[in-house]
Amino acid sequence: MTTSASDPYDLAVIGAGSAGLAGAVAASELGLSVVLLDASVQTGGQFYRHPAPALGAARPEALHHDWAAFAELRRRLAASDVTHLSAHHVWSVTREGGDDGPWAVHAVTGPDGAEGRPRRVRARAVLLATGAYERQLPFPGWTLPGVVGAGGAQAMLKSGLVLPGKRIVVAGSGPLLLAVASSLAVAGATVAAVVEAGGYLRYARSPRVLMTNPHKAAEALTHGAALLRHRVRLATRSAVTEVHGADRVEAVTVTRLDRDWRPVQGSGRRIACDALAVGHGLVPQIELATALGCATRPLADGTLALALDTRQETSVRGLWAAGETGGVGGAELARTEGELAGIAVAARLLGRRTDAARLRRLLRDRDRMRAFADVMGRAHAPGPGWPGWLTDDTDVCRCEEVSAGRVREAVNDLGARDARTVKLLTRAGMGWCQGRMCGTAVACLAARGEAAEPPAERRPFATPVPLATLAALDPSTENGF
Ligand SMILES: Cc1cc2nc3c(=O)[nH]c(=O)nc-3n(C[C@H](O)[C@H](O)[C@H](O)COP(=O)(O)OP(=O)(O)OC[C@H]3O[C@@H](n4cnc5c(N)ncnc54)[C@H](O)[C@@H]3O)c2cc1C
Repeated sequence: MTTSASDPYDLAVIGAGSAGLAGAVAASELGLSVVLLDASVQTGGQFYRHPAPALGAARPEALHHDWAAFAELRRRLAASDVTHLSAHHVWSVTREGGDDGPWAVHAVTGPDGAEGRPRRVRARAVLLATGAYERQLPFPGWTLPGVVGAGGAQAMLKSGLVLPGKRIVVAGSGPLLLAVASSLAVAGATVAAVVEAGGYLRYARSPRVLMTNPHKAAEALTHGAALLRHRVRLATRSAVTEVHGADRVEAVTVTRLDRDWRPVQGSGRRIACDALAVGHGLVPQIELATALGCATRPLADGTLALALDTRQETSVRGLWAAGETGGVGGAELARTEGELAGIAVAARLLGRRTDAARLRRLLRDRDRMRAFADVMGRAHAPGPGWPGWLTDDTDVCRCEEVSAGRVREAVNDLGARDARTVKLLTRAGMGWCQGRMCGTAVACLAARGEAAEPPAERRPFATPVPLATLAALDPSTENGF
């Protein structure tokens, strides 16, 4: 289906990862006009990140499992009428002309918005499929060169075909660690250890959920077998509590943790390495939705996701979400939810009944995989004792160089009780990343040991936007933008 330049599309999908691709092609195949925007140049999102053609990778699929699912989505996209706007970073979504008016999706162009040319597309419905980013908990030495995010290490390998070091420790919490460690080992790195702060025994408390998701166990076994083949040691209930090195990583201290993630005194041992890949799970990327007032729900691992109804619609009518924005659960769940959302939007806009058998299968699969995601979230949720890793001079906010000591001073001496007040007193969270890196840590310190996450923010900008871009907007056509 085609649209004239002034007509709104039926559906704008933001994010071309597993969820967004599935949603865009499903909606297009049912007859909707669809525009698909992504900050990245390539489709595939985080899971199907692959090398740029210029790198000449002979078999880009070698670093992925389930590549066939992505190949099929790409085939359907190529065969569809979907307008794909790559290298379009969306910074805001607004509504034109009242509650029933079309949505305006505002983007800046260039890889991750670097060119800064403004672009606006209009649509009758929006599907948010913006994925997640890594949660980082600070510890002494975490800002040394050679410390990278666990997902970041995976991204370096998948998109740049480079390793962050030769002898790497992989640490943090969550199933991503096993995937990252096995990829690094298979690609030729020595993985000195995998250090998991949570444990895997908690999965055994939900045998029914495990039995109905056998592919998850199979995935874990595949990674486990790769780690065994490469003689990689796995330490659970342990954390990297210090990084050593003059100019870059030379070694890490691994310490045993109690049930609350407090370091067990005297249990530290040093492991030599030249890189540390670390991450403590993923945080749903929901700023575009919370700016519009969408309701959120707390996840088992303490992060916030969008609250969705059974057909993937948010609490704001006309705005759907799929994949990690509704809770972290993996690429297959993201695909299922994307398809479900695409079908739901088509049913709403075209007023047609959906193929009941297809819908039943998708709903059943979605609920089954969401149940597994909850179990996963509980097994790897950070315990309240992790701030015991911090010394007063550990930087908590690396953008603004705010130490744990200064945050504690704001809490203990100046009476700050939440992340927002700490931010006003110390500048923690005011830098380039806008609290994405330090938000969890600052919220926990402000709550004095209670588990806490920063509240959902209502910001007009989801990403930094050049002033020239704002100046070029025509205020007469939109609600303030
Ligand atoms: C760093 C990282 C590494 C990961 N590595 C693995 C792994 O190795 N193995 C594994 O099993 N799982 C991995 N995961 C989890 C896995 O990526 C997800 O389960 C899956 O990709 C979810 O699909 P999605 O479509 O919800 O999100 P994604 O695949 O993350 O897709 C989201 C897309 O939205 C785009 N986007 C975000 N914000 C904007 C915006 N404002 N404007 C325009 N576009 C935007 C992004 O560019 C991205 O393409 C990783 C996650 C992260 C964050």
